[in-house]
Amino acid sequence: MSRTVLRAWWWGLGVSSLLVAAAQGGDLKALVGGTLVDGFGSTPIRDSVVLIDGERIQAVGTVKTLAVPDGAEVISTEGMTVLPGLWDMHVHLMINGHADYAHWDATYPDRFRDVIMPASAHQLLMAGVTSARDMGAPLEDSIAVRDAIGRGEIPGPTMYMSGPFIQHAPYPGTELFRWGVDGVADARAKVRRLAEAGVDFIKLIDQDQMTEDEVAAVVDEAHQHGLKVAAHAHRPEEIRRGLRAGVDCFEHTGLSTAPGYPEDVLVMLEERTAQMNKGPLFWTPTVEGLFNYEYVRDHPEMLDTDAWHLGLPPDIVADIRQSFAHPERLGYFQITPLRKPTLKNKIDQLRRAGVKLLVGTDSGIPMKFHIQSTWNELDIWVREMGIPVMEAIQAATYWPAVHMGVADDYGTVSEGKYADVIAVQGDVLRYVDLLQRVDLVIKHGRRVK
Ligand SMILES: [Zn+2]
Repeated sequence: MSRTVLRAWWWGLGVSSLLVAAAQGGDLKALVGGTLVDGFGSTPIRDSVVLIDGERIQAVGTVKTLAVPDGAEVISTEGMTVLPGLWDMHVHLMINGHADYAHWDATYPDRFRDVIMPASAHQLLMAGVTSARDMGAPLEDSIAVRDAIGRGEIPGPTMYMSGPFIQHAPYPGTELFRWGVDGVADARAKVRRLAEAGVDFIKLIDQDQMTEDEVAAVVDEAHQHGLKVAAHAHRPEEIRRGLRAGVDCFEHTGLSTAPGYPEDVLVMLEERTAQMNKGPLFWTPTVEGLFNYEYVRDHPEMLDTDAWHLGLPPDIVADIRQSFAHPERLGYFQITPLRKPTLKNKIDQLRRAGVKLLVGTDSGIPMKFHIQSTWNELDIWVREMGIPVMEAIQAATYWPAVHMGVADDYGTVSEGKYADVIAVQGDVLRYVDLLQRVDLVIKHGRRVK
């Protein structure tokens, strides 16, 4: 119901009817007609009806089984696929595709909180991403941006923030968002500081350069504060140490050009995934940036579009653009073509070992924009990695919510959940790349696109 109609109705019917309407939920929306992929992984629901009351989903059914109440605002989803809002489990709000990290880290920290991170968040939301996990940024900025979004002051996904990375030693010039640990007591103190500041999880990297006691202390301290630990898996020894210490989620598929994971790592993974009392072992492989690099380099449409300018002032856009004027010359990418052929085998190995893969993208890294990342990851999973589309969608909806411990509120389109819902014209189960043009985005019951 539009505001104007509501007002006319108010004056026409008087206060007593209005109180009835309020009791029924004054802000009722009905998404009617689309094919609902609800996130649970079962058969899609044709001719679906999703009733939204305020921030939450009130009921889910079909046009035959669920009547649309009088007064509800009807939004037609005929011809559309309706899905839970997507999750991206590996984003970097503080970066925005610029190819030179040293320049970025030296130039823009003053603008992270008010300009760059909000722009990134807005872009994710417009891409249908209603929840995202941020994998490392300065502590105060992380909390401030997450909370400003939470209060509705700026548009963006519901954010889960790590704050600064925990690692052996920060790389020079990155001390704002990387904290080194020196000994067990320091490891515990740093994690405690992050927990007390209100981060949502701990990001651990380079754990193969820490002592085993330090790694164990980081993970144990995090768990004592109810925080999960997400750790890099760039090198086999990072995986081994991470598994021994009990990390909850690994990130990336490995920086090397080795064709697969060593046998002993696979055995450790299977031993871990066999322990169901610990819950699934999660892994965010972030394959899209690697897989698509040569394509993006040679077909610059994704770089030339102005879609990724959203929220960024002209000076920053110009700076980002000039940074990849010659993408083929960037040192960052020289080894990428050699890593690409290893991806499929590694993904297969992880799936065979029983690992639960999550959709995440490393969004924000060079030439990778928040408005494009997530659908590309799903596209590569389905088209190139051979992952069934329903499994891919669940890895971007249901499983992230389970991993973050919020499955009672998020991850599926079902009764009682927050109304985070997207809709896309066409059959996403057949053509997953349709997700590049999300037609409808509803976050916490409010239509934002
Ligand atoms: Zn990352």
